[in-house]
Amino acid sequence: MQYYSLKHQAPRVDFRAATIAGQAPDSGLYFPETVPRFAPELLQSLKTLPKAELAFQVMQPYVGTTIPAAELARICADTVDFPFPVVPVTAQIAALELFHGPTLAFKDVGARFMSRCLGYFSRQQTKTITVLVATSGDTGGAVANGFLGVEGVEVVILYPAGKVSPVQEQQLTALGQNITALEVQGDFDDCQQLVKQAFTDAAVTSHLTLTSANSINVARWLPQQLYYLYAWQQWPHPEPPVVAVPSGNFGNLCAGLLAYASGLPVAHFVAACNANDSVASYLRTGDFAAKAAVATISNAMDVGNPSNFTRILELFAQSHATISSLISGYTVTDAATSATIRQVHQQTGYLLDPHGAVAFHALADYLQTRPGQHGLLLETAHPVKFPDVVEPLIDQPVALPESLADLMRQPKRSIPLAPRYEELREYLLSR
Ligand SMILES: *Cc1c(COP(=O)(O)O)cnc(C)c1O
Repeated sequence: MQYYSLKHQAPRVDFRAATIAGQAPDSGLYFPETVPRFAPELLQSLKTLPKAELAFQVMQPYVGTTIPAAELARICADTVDFPFPVVPVTAQIAALELFHGPTLAFKDVGARFMSRCLGYFSRQQTKTITVLVATSGDTGGAVANGFLGVEGVEVVILYPAGKVSPVQEQQLTALGQNITALEVQGDFDDCQQLVKQAFTDAAVTSHLTLTSANSINVARWLPQQLYYLYAWQQWPHPEPPVVAVPSGNFGNLCAGLLAYASGLPVAHFVAACNANDSVASYLRTGDFAAKAAVATISNAMDVGNPSNFTRILELFAQSHATISSLISGYTVTDAATSATIRQVHQQTGYLLDPHGAVAFHALADYLQTRPGQHGLLLETAHPVKFPDVVEPLIDQPVALPESLADLMRQPKRSIPLAPRYEELREYLLSR
């Protein structure tokens, strides 16, 4: 499999080069030159195929010959080594729980897959690889956890000061070793902008072998399509689900669209956004305009200019008609998100996190006029990651899992950074 840049000003590369580079030299996102179709036998045997085997079969065409089959099988088995249960919430809506990995958010799968691939590739070269990543909350923790102690790889994480939850902050600042956290006095879009600029700075890229671990990196983006296959494995209804995805940078939804384009049955997609709804507006109007990010209680989705939007356009030949007939966009306010967490908990006992609640609200809205259909929301994080939001709504504490209690006691270590590129540049050149 070869990958081309969506800006079309850079050479095609294989999976190895795309993973190490993160972003193409023309600053475009890499995109697979063909979308592989799932073999009919794969879809037929889906319900009985073990998770790791399914992961291997889905990822193999994308990885090609850059990783030997036995090694890739090990990487896949390791990556998906925890459950992905579909849990009924109401008669019409179920949740696909993606928070059973080590950092309690869905980004663990992409981060684990990518870190293991990069670990393999780094064993073939002598120079250290530096992973430079911007996080709106959960990416940083998943990447830090995935890469902790991986030899030949250094990780530098940029996160917006005061805009991530305490659990999230501990997960990216308290690990130490090969992980460094830069605390940026700005928002996520500032962090993302700084990272993008570093990748186009020749002085920096000749000093360090830089790669990104955001969902712009194909090794993080592509394995996320597995969620949709795991959901289908457990889906109890004869008709395929309406799938609602709480979206920020749109890597997760775009991976679901890729699985759909490869032949996975999905009835419809719901793009669930908070106030940062540039893609939802595009779906409604056909016009896309990036916006400045605004802070919400579903902070991992506070993205004004989602990177993966260009991949969605590419997947469907830029056709707004095709895209908007397959995906419905919803904007959910913080007030509606809070009310959803409270109501769903009262009525069903199920505790949503703020991101899952955005998806639940949008999905319920979509299904209201379609009583015969069933919906699935992607529950992307454990509610314990957002106690300040969740606990007052349900009037009770959410118990901290033991694995986190230990982490919460570790000292925070971060380096403050103004949201100016010169500062980041100086820091990177001094490494
Ligand atoms: C990152 C994140 C999202 C948004 O996912 P994208 O792939 O960026 O659209 C949603 N929920 C949670 C909990 C996240 O961490």
